Amino acid sequence: MLRAIKRALLWTAVAMTTVALSLVALITWPRPLFAFALGAGKIVVASDRPIPSAGGERFLDECERLLERSPLKATRRQYWLYVTNDDWRQRLFFIPHHDAWGYAWNDHAFLSGADFERGRVVHWGYVGTPPRTLAYLCAHELTHVIALEHTGLDRLHVPTWVWEGLPDYVAIERRETFAELRDALGDRPVDIPMRVKYGSYPRYRLLVTYFVERKGWSVDQLLQTRLTEEEAAEIVRAER
Ligand SMILES: [Zn+2]
Repeated sequence: MLRAIKRALLWTAVAMTTVALSLVALITWPRPLFAFALGAGKIVVASDRPIPSAGGERFLDECERLLERSPLKATRRQYWLYVTNDDWRQRLFFIPHHDAWGYAWNDHAFLSGADFERGRVVHWGYVGTPPRTLAYLCAHELTHVIALEHTGLDRLHVPTWVWEGLPDYVAIERRETFAELRDALGDRPVDIPMRVKYGSYPRYRLLVTYFVERKGWSVDQLLQTRLTEEEAAEIVRAER
């Protein structure tokens, strides 16, 4: 009896490990599951549905333009972005980040559904609104990919305000100055539900904007800082 239970447990463990490894393999090499692709330049977008050429090209141009003004320089020749429109595909590929609109994985990134004609992200039927457009999301996630190229395993030591604030700073279409953003945000507390649900990071962007704009920090200084969010915010407050 005991032996039978042991054997069943062993097989369950083997089966679960196989499933987990297959999932990691699928997310690491997703190309075969995306039939359509567009782009020959810096960014290629792949999708499970046909990509309208005009909307698709415009999207790629916009995302590339946002990345070009990034202080973080891309090193690879090309970056792939995968759009999961079908429900099952979105469920499958978004297992690591169930509620996210997008996420970066090694040298590529995933976006939940896309409306290329309107430049909007579509997440379980919810249509994202500006400033968090499809191009914003593309530039945001690819900035994570590029930041990972620069940091490697040091990524684990990069504080969250830099890790999320920098992509937000890069991807936002109209980049406010430090003073504009500080005045717009005021002293209101951080809206945690907004941050969790929509990945909106204005407070982190404010800190990044401060160190880049006022302190003249390079992107390497940002990625190498170990200041916590509280310490960084304290420095910003002391400036007033
Ligand atoms: Zn992010």
